[in-house]
Amino acid sequence: MAIQRTFSIIKPDATKKNLIGKIIAHFEAEGIRICAMKKIHMTRGQAEGFYAVHSERPFFGELCDFMSSGPCVVMVLEGENVILRNREIMGATNPADAAEGTLRKLYADSIGNNAVHGSDAPETAAVEINYFFNAFELH
Ligand code: ADP
Ligand code: MG
Repeated sequence: MAIQRTFSIIKPDATKKNLIGKIIAHFEAEGIRICAMKKIHMTRGQAEGFYAVHSERPFFGELCDFMSSGPCVVMVLEGENVILRNREIMGATNPADAAEGTLRKLYADSIGNNAVHGSDAPETAAVEINYFFNAFELH
């Protein structure tokens, strides 16, 4: 398996709870490198654009309100098989279903306010990285 890059967000619930360092420590402990990172506060429109794939879902409005409610940390993670490994580190979307030790089990409040985002496939990772970062910001 080759070295991959994936896109990660520390969501507004987690930045509000001062969990940025704790969450990044999980990635670094797994040998995953942070190859880009910045703290942003998305507009409603930027959140709608990022989650456009979910625009028909009943929770879309709530999701965009939440993602633009406070600052996020957006990151590009790099490592062996990192797209799948990040999803495993994150745990299930609903923290009630997330495995012990996963970020969502440890830090999420609810299925909506669930601490972290991670790309689900190479195609979405590429689109999501490009949504927030340009080539000069990846190291
Ligand atoms: P994941 O983030 O695990 O890939 P999805 O792509 O299915 O999950 O959903 C995107 C985000 O939308 C979730 O992380 C969560 O914040 C929100 N979400 C998903 N399902 C629900 C729901 N039933 N109610 C409220 N928010 C939801
Ligand atoms: Mg998803």
